[in-house]
Amino acid sequence: MARKVLIAGNWKMNLNHLEAIALVQKIAFSLPEKYYAKVDVTVLPPFTDIRSVQTLTDGDKLLLTYGAQDLSPHDSGAYTGDVSGPMLAKLGCTYVTVGHSERREYHHEDDELVNKKVRAALKHGLSPILCVGEQLEVREAGGHLEHTTNQLVAGLKGLKAEQVKNVVVAYEPVWAIGTGRVATPADAEEVCAALRATLAEKYGAEIADGLRVLYGGSVKSGNIGDLVKCENIDGALVGGASLDADEFTKLCALA
Ligand code: PEP
Repeated sequence: MARKVLIAGNWKMNLNHLEAIALVQKIAFSLPEKYYAKVDVTVLPPFTDIRSVQTLTDGDKLLLTYGAQDLSPHDSGAYTGDVSGPMLAKLGCTYVTVGHSERREYHHEDDELVNKKVRAALKHGLSPILCVGEQLEVREAGGHLEHTTNQLVAGLKGLKAEQVKNVVVAYEPVWAIGTGRVATPADAEEVCAALRATLAEKYGAEIADGLRVLYGGSVKSGNIGDLVKCENIDGALVGGASLDADEFTKLCALA
């Protein structure tokens, strides 16, 4: 099945709302409408920039979508500092990353919480971008396939095939994030293929064939082409390179 490529720009904790507006405007100028027939592009700003991005994309009817970098597993209540699925849905978000390795590491998010967040996203019509990936020690010990497929199964626990089809999976080896050390296309493909095989085993071939599996970790315009040529890599989750309009749009154009 032909899957449409998705390029998702994870801005992390960068850019104020003026910078966010400038970046989205530059992306809009550089990627003509016809470009989106081939590739979906989304940006994932910090919560504080989402309204600005929404105003621009709605006002100019841009085909660029946007989302958030995290959400609460709860809908509302006494959870100081958290932002919920209904709030993000109301802001017009399409995607939300869940289980990014920086959340797992700095906020001690485990698979159980990641699973609750995936459910919360789906409940409110958001597509979770479920991130999985191994640390360097795990890869060096040869445990990367087991580690990532276990994270995938745990993140999707209890979901029906019907729900899973709205999920995007992102394979992000921890050792490649923000390090400049990109996985080789063969290494990334090996894991993405194993993730898809796991999805097929659990939810059937049709769901697995339709689902997008992204690669993330030091993706740039210079390496995106070889990554998306791989059979099981359907795009990229891009951190650092998504903050530079010229580099990001070049990367999108080469995807
Ligand atoms: C990320 O934040 O998900 C990421 C892949 O970052 P970078 O592209 O900077 O490695």
